[in-house]
Amino acid sequence: MTTHTEPLDSVMDTVGETPLVRVAASPDAVPVYAKLESFNPGASVKDRIGKYMLEGMIEEGTLPPDGTVVEPTAGNTGIGLAVAAGQLGLDAVFVVPERFSVEKQQLMRALGADVINTPTDEGMGGAIDRAHELAEELDGAAVPQQFANPLNAEAHYETTAPEIYEALDGEVGALVAGMGTGGTLMGLAEYALERNPDTRIVAVQPEGSTYGDLFGEDPEEGEYKTEGIGTHDTETNRLVDPELIDDLLTVPDEDTHAEMQRLAAEEGQLVASSAAANSLAARQVARDVRDGEVDAPHDSVVTVFCDSSERYLSKGVYRSFEEWEG
Ligand code: PMP
Repeated sequence: MTTHTEPLDSVMDTVGETPLVRVAASPDAVPVYAKLESFNPGASVKDRIGKYMLEGMIEEGTLPPDGTVVEPTAGNTGIGLAVAAGQLGLDAVFVVPERFSVEKQQLMRALGADVINTPTDEGMGGAIDRAHELAEELDGAAVPQQFANPLNAEAHYETTAPEIYEALDGEVGALVAGMGTGGTLMGLAEYALERNPDTRIVAVQPEGSTYGDLFGEDPEEGEYKTEGIGTHDTETNRLVDPELIDDLLTVPDEDTHAEMQRLAAEEGQLVASSAAANSLAARQVARDVRDGEVDAPHDSVVTVFCDSSERYLSKGVYRSFEEWEG
């Protein structure tokens, strides 16, 4: 992790180099390790792409150095982009579907960004359309569009993946991650498959998400409470290449909720729902590798704990399942 043993110039220097910690409930023979992304300055995995995409876009010339970032986001990307935008001297406007957590929207505003809500029933698609309309109206504005921007996956290829491989001396058997945009899993997968084409790559989604459409399944669409992963329209998930994925695991909200509470009570991990879904899926993959059900080049599984539960306390994540508001 970031050592903090020397003074740093900027909070931007604290993005990445997060700890990799064993999930205690994983099999001894095939341990699961989780990358604790709440250690980033904006407290989620999305700080990585906030920094990487904005620096990359300024360098490419697609965003003027004093321009405005407009992004449709479920929240964490807004926070990651707002941290970076503030430090790079850019303005930021975020378009967030109403149902997403109020804590995240307060943090984006605190970081100096404007937040615009779109109706929940228009989903991410509605937020994406509104962001593009706004960018047309504003001078010097650009939409990073995390759902389609290759810099999103590249951030993980260039930072998250090498950190994991260094920590485990390259001995990574399987990578398991929930797909929101799919940027995390795609960046990790590309890096892993270049090193060992047999590395097992497993995607995770909540029940009700329709990523199965990309795998010739006929998924039943439904609402889910798990926040930050899953899709209702794979047309928006431009980064996801199903060819890189060996398996798609679907986790019901009830199981995710129980795992979120178990991780806190037993492992001291105050992580949110997408991390809990990842934990369950990764533990399953580890058991399958141990039992010889699936092949992996090494006896280890790596996943990502994307953000902290503190960001969702107002939604009752630690109350009963029925009281948890998605
Ligand atoms: N978990 C949380 C809490 C998130 O905000 C996100 C991003 N939407 C993810 C997981 C998924 O990451 P990715 O977009 O890289 O697939």
